[in-house]
Amino acid sequence: MIVASSTCRVCGATEHTLVVERVKDWEYGVEGEWAYRRCASCGLLQLEPFPTVEDLVEAYDVDYHGYRTTAEKGRLYKLLFDVKDGLFKKKIAKVIPRGAALLDVGCGSGEYLRRMSFLEPSRIDGIDFNETAVELARSKGVNCFQGIFPDYPGEPDTYDAVFMNNYLEHTLDPGVEVEKALRLLKPGGALIGEVPNFRSVDRKVFGRYWGGNHVPRHTFQFEPGSLTALLERAGFQDVRTNQELSSNHLTLSIQNWLQRKTPDLAANPRITHGRTWYYNHLLLATAPVNLLFKLAGRSGVMKFFARKAG
Ligand SMILES: [Zn+2]
Repeated sequence: MIVASSTCRVCGATEHTLVVERVKDWEYGVEGEWAYRRCASCGLLQLEPFPTVEDLVEAYDVDYHGYRTTAEKGRLYKLLFDVKDGLFKKKIAKVIPRGAALLDVGCGSGEYLRRMSFLEPSRIDGIDFNETAVELARSKGVNCFQGIFPDYPGEPDTYDAVFMNNYLEHTLDPGVEVEKALRLLKPGGALIGEVPNFRSVDRKVFGRYWGGNHVPRHTFQFEPGSLTALLERAGFQDVRTNQELSSNHLTLSIQNWLQRKTPDLAANPRITHGRTWYYNHLLLATAPVNLLFKLAGRSGVMKFFARKAG
């Protein structure tokens, strides 16, 4: 089925408004300019023009930060990550049983699943379409499927938890993705993930330079309301969104703004793995500002939690 660019891929509605235009790939310099359209019916924000699968494969064929490990991202990054990770594990331990069967959709290097080993999981499965990511995940002992989630041959009622960290915003149809997660979860199982928050203060302030845009890889954008509605339409219960303490998108927005005039973004000498040398310093410096945004319910990153009926 060919879906016209002006049609919402999730609900099929055509009525929409353009929210932000002339967005570029400030980090990796993939050629083109994009906009986000807000669907008048379901409220989801969809990239316009919508990339083909071939375009997307090419867009990840860069020195992509998502395939680096935390340690490779620098000591400061790792320090911040470890503090947050400790808090997150405490929360996870309350909602996922020991010996759980886990699936990480868009598992990247497999690092996140390895960090869940404190749960002594009975099964750690992952999915990623990138060959490098799959190799890295397998080297960490993750049972990794190479491909996209809709093609994953998982059995229904298999997992206690499905993770979608920084994943839904990369997909061709988030509705199909969350419906599949619901099928694969055991009754009472949890879907846990993280997405950029399009309703954040940094999004409002930085517009086309916002770090969460990340075009053309971020094909969809979410706000607390539209994400909750998406999960509830799929059949999930107990849906919650939480504003995350994360200055990633705020920091990336500043980096994008500072790098915006670089003549050749694809060969920007100041950028390695999509990041400048000052990125980690800015992460720390902007953390107090992000804390204020979080407290106002408008952080650049949000987590979500949803449960399959038990
Ligand atoms: Zn829609």
